[in-house]
This record gives sequence, structure tokens and C-alpha cells, in this order.
Amino acid sequence: AKKNGRNQFRLFSDPMNQRVVERLALETEMRFSLENNEFVLDYQPLVELSTGRVRGVEALVRWQNPKRGLMMPDSFLPVAEKSGLIIPLGFWVLEESCRQIKLWEKQGMSVERVAVNLSARQMWEENIVDSVADIISKTGCRCDQIELELTETVLMSSVEKTVKILSHLAELGIEVSMDDFGTGYSSLYYLRNLPFHIIKVDKSFVDDLPQDAGSVSLISSIIAFAHGLGKKTVVEGIETQQQLECVHSLGGDVAQGYYFARPMNPQKIGKLLASGPTP
Ligand code: C2E
Ligand code: CA
Ligand code: CA
Ligand code: CA
Repeated sequence: AKKNGRNQFRLFSDPMNQRVVERLALETEMRFSLENNEFVLDYQPLVELSTGRVRGVEALVRWQNPKRGLMMPDSFLPVAEKSGLIIPLGFWVLEESCRQIKLWEKQGMSVERVAVNLSARQMWEENIVDSVADIISKTGCRCDQIELELTETVLMSSVEKTVKILSHLAELGIEVSMDDFGTGYSSLYYLRNLPFHIIKVDKSFVDDLPQDAGSVSLISSIIAFAHGLGKKTVVEGIETQQQLECVHSLGGDVAQGYYFARPMNPQKIGKLLASGPTP
């Protein structure tokens, strides 16, 4: 190590290097944790607005890191993406969701479907459709019990490849949502030709409802646009009764947000599902 003036060593040449060291440490821990089952899933309900029925749940990954405590996806997914560990992690999330569906069934609770997030790296894996189908069938689930969420940016990055993969998934009965809609750069022309089923309107459009006329107009247009293409809408990030009423009156199909429930562990969500429709 280099000397850094008097009585002190310079351990890292610059903050950048320190970040690399930190990232590598996290990566090593992540590898270990994948083998040792230290990831868990929480589930958040998706509520059908016409009936109040829970139409499904979204699986959201958390990391119970023995040293650092419970970690949320934003703090470790970037490292998982960069290292490629997102691929085994993503497959684990899918498999765990399938196992959970069977477990809920065994306990007499029916969860219609679980929405699983798929990262870009996973989407462009070779034979991604076969891998997904294999995991679903090996756990004894049906394809229509799993929905995949892909971000707008992923779906738009290679339209030709995307069309192929989505068509193949649709043949199997797996529906696909376009996640975080409105935050990327979708081409309206390609949107029309992409065989996906659901548009998930990003939370940023909901935050200023119902006061902000611009947000109202945007959400209303997105919903009309989705319906025009024969697609359903899920509106994310509903936190208040006013937002809920606004989205309902604008014709939104499904809502998700803290107003209904935060993401919860499988036991809690199981209880919620067993006790019937939410507010
Ligand atoms: P996302 O797919 O957009 O998921 C929704 C995020 O919004 C979740 O954060 C959820 O807890 C949060 N949320 C839901 N309702 C509300 C609300 O009313 N208010 C507010 N403020 N937030 C709300 P979370 O669980 O921290 O996940 C963050 C992101 O990490 C997800 O955003 C998704 O992009 C990614 N992610 C989570 N799990 C997975 C996974 O298994 N695989 C992949 N590839 N990505 C994942
Ligand atoms: Ca999502
Ligand atoms: Ca989202
Ligand atoms: Ca989001």
C-alpha cells in the first residue's frame, strides 16, 4: 500500500476503487446467499377495480443479509445485474413463486396468479421461454398462474426479438405486462405490434392525482390508449382513497399500492386473501 502522508496508509487509490471493492464484496455475499437461501419474497396484491377482488400478487425480492440486515431490491439488484447473478436469482424468484402458489393451494387459498419481474439480462438469455416453461411445469403450476413483468425499456430495446419471445410465451398461456410504462421511450408504432397483455402505469403518474390536471389527462390517455389496443391497465403506487377514486373513474382496470397493502410475507398475504376482498 502507498503511504498517504504521515502515519497513514492509503488503502484505496480513490473512492471509485473503494466502490469496486464494495461491489465485489456484495457480489461474493450474493453468491453465498443464493446457495444458502437468504433471499425471500414479499407479495403485494393487485386489486381489480370493478369488483375489489385480488386478481393476483406481485412477487418482490428481498435479501436477508446476515451482516447487513434486510436489504431492498434497489440496494442489491444493480450489483446482481452487473455481475450476471440476476440470472440465477431471477430463476430462483420464479421457482419460489411457483412453489408458493402450490403451498397456498395446499392451504386452501387460491391465488389466481403471481406476477414475476424479469430483468433484461434474463429476457435475452438463450432459451428463456423454455427455461421459464420448465420451471413452471416442474413445480406443478400452470402457465396461466404466472405473469411476467418486463420494463418498457427492455421490451423496446430489440423489438424483433421481443415479438418472437412474447408470441412464444403467449402460446404457452403466459401473459406479459409492460412495467413502469411511461418512464421509457416507447414507440407508439411498435407498441401496437408487440404481443403483450397489460400496461402497468408507473407510479410517477399517480403521485399528483387528483389535483394535477396534467397527470389526470396523462393517465386518462394512457388508459384509453391501452384499451384501444385491447390491453388491460394496472396502475401502480396508489396510496390514497382520492387516487383510487380518480383512477377508477378514469377507467383503470387494476390497482396496486400501499393504500390496499404493502408487500407482505406469504403468511400475511395468505391471511389477507383468505379473508376476502380489500376495501
Ligand atoms: P417495480 O417492479 O416497479 O415494483 C413496485 C415497487 O413499488 C416495489 O418496490 C413496491 O414495494 C413499491 N410500491 C408498491 N406500491 C407502492 C406505493 O403505494 N407507494 C410507494 N412509494 N411504493 C410502492 P420494491 O419492492 O422496493 O422493488 C423495487 C424494484 O425492484 C421493483 O420495482 C422492480 O423493478 C425490482 N424488483 C423487485 N423484485 C424483483 C425481482 O424479483 N426481479 C427483478 N428483476 N426485479 C425486481
Ligand atoms: Ca414490477
Ligand atoms: Ca413497476
Ligand atoms: Ca417502478
